[in-house]
Amino acid sequence: MKSDYLHPSEEAVRFLAAPHRLLIGAHWCEGRAAPIAVDNPCRETPLCMVSAASAEDVDDAVRAARAALDGSWGRMNGRERAAVMVRFADLLDSRAPLVAEIMALDNGQPLASCLMVVRLLAVELMRYYAGWATKIAGESFSPSLGGARGELDIMTATVREPIGVVGAIVPWNAPAGMMALKLGPALAAGCTVVLKTAELAPLTGQFFAELMLEAGAPPGTFNLLHGLGEETGAAMAAHPGIDKISFTGSAPVGRRIVAAAMGNLKKVTLELGGKSPVVVFPDADLDVVAPAAAMACFVASGQACMAGTRLFAHESIHDALVERIGRAADAMVPGDALDPATTLGPLISVRQKARVEGYIESGLAEGAHIANAPRPWTGPGHFVAPVVFTEAHMAMRIAHEEIFGPVLTVMRFSDEDDLLRAVNSTEFGLSGSVWTQDIQRALRVARRIDSGQVGINIHAAVSPETPFGGNRQSGWGREFGREGLDPYLKTKAISINLGPRP
Ligand code: NAD
Repeated sequence: MKSDYLHPSEEAVRFLAAPHRLLIGAHWCEGRAAPIAVDNPCRETPLCMVSAASAEDVDDAVRAARAALDGSWGRMNGRERAAVMVRFADLLDSRAPLVAEIMALDNGQPLASCLMVVRLLAVELMRYYAGWATKIAGESFSPSLGGARGELDIMTATVREPIGVVGAIVPWNAPAGMMALKLGPALAAGCTVVLKTAELAPLTGQFFAELMLEAGAPPGTFNLLHGLGEETGAAMAAHPGIDKISFTGSAPVGRRIVAAAMGNLKKVTLELGGKSPVVVFPDADLDVVAPAAAMACFVASGQACMAGTRLFAHESIHDALVERIGRAADAMVPGDALDPATTLGPLISVRQKARVEGYIESGLAEGAHIANAPRPWTGPGHFVAPVVFTEAHMAMRIAHEEIFGPVLTVMRFSDEDDLLRAVNSTEFGLSGSVWTQDIQRALRVARRIDSGQVGINIHAAVSPETPFGGNRQSGWGREFGREGLDPYLKTKAISINLGPRP
């Protein structure tokens, strides 16, 4: 590690020293729950304290969001909403280096990848959804059953209305991207938002709140809460004044949110976990696949929902591919998030590190082999060296449970039907990829993989236009693209009696 890169910029130091409060309506306020200590996962040193929201603070935020929905934000037309969103995107773009630096300090991921999350994901998502704000439209038609005996001439128009007050709950990995993914479609649709950051990486939320106000969003349009999941998050999920929860996180918490949402039957969309397959056929170019497969699994130290954590290698190329991926894994450079040489960040917490190490032990105990040479980490920080497991099968925990760490489980295949049975045998169905030069085989296999997104010779082709979401227990609904807008809208049919049919 180079020590001269380890000091945060003066601007970042100033940001960390300032208070980190909640934004409710127009007011920055201290929450009434116990404040949360935020640590740097690379160094295990304290960064700052953030204020946390109690159930009463959630009530206040929901009231502020409702007032903005019934008032100034709700009265804005699509062009006005789009203008606010574009201004916000431009401001976020101009502040991207600082936002990325704070995100890197907060969740430990390398600065360059944090900058990509801010610029390529958050800013571009806001610009993309700003475009949709002026394109929301219903349709009109003549219904076939006009009146009891069809004697009436009726015209029906459908109106697309905002679903209401949205409660957004986000995880700690890529927080700027996750927040934009909630905020973009919600604001384009005309909703107002109460957003809770993740307690393990809450700091980037403050930029969103500041820049929304600076961009001209009326107070209450966007309300920022920090807090613990079981306290602040649970109060949001159960709140009768919230019309919809948009959640990204783990499947167990997703289930709790669904249960809590039953009180007022609020709408819920869930983006949950994954155990995504990377399928490599013998004709794939291993020089291309090996680094791509290593990146698919080890990006963000495996703390990515779409991570390709199960590699299915055709038996004829299995050994050659494992050898190359092992080398790519061992070449990753752990280090401080602000050091440009770093390519491997830490896990988010001591708890997550212990959990991942537990999975590595369970893999060994169940008979899998480690095919690479992971170097144990001795310095500070929650680092775990990437592990490539072979001799594994789908019954092992490392093959079917989401680990959320840098652990790749490689399995051999020879028969396509057996392969697809194994691929589709987990409870998840989020992402996946197929690597081959044979386009017929690629499409045939891609169509039979039961997941929301499949790449052919690419893993996780994320873009604002491309729908993303999970099948089975990977979630409910889709985000990104036009489909990502729909859950924030409700349709009203207005029928006009034009009189007797001529
Ligand atoms: P988590 O489920 O523990 O927490 C996510 C958020 O939910 C946090 O803000 C947390 O405070 C809140 N929360 C916790 N308990 C709650 C409760 N009872 N009620 C309401 N809110 C509550 O997940 P995590 O550990 O932060 O993130 C990792 C998980 O997120 C992984 O499973 C990963 O696959 C998933 N993830 C999915 C996507 C996707 O798009 N599908 C993207 C990123 C992460």
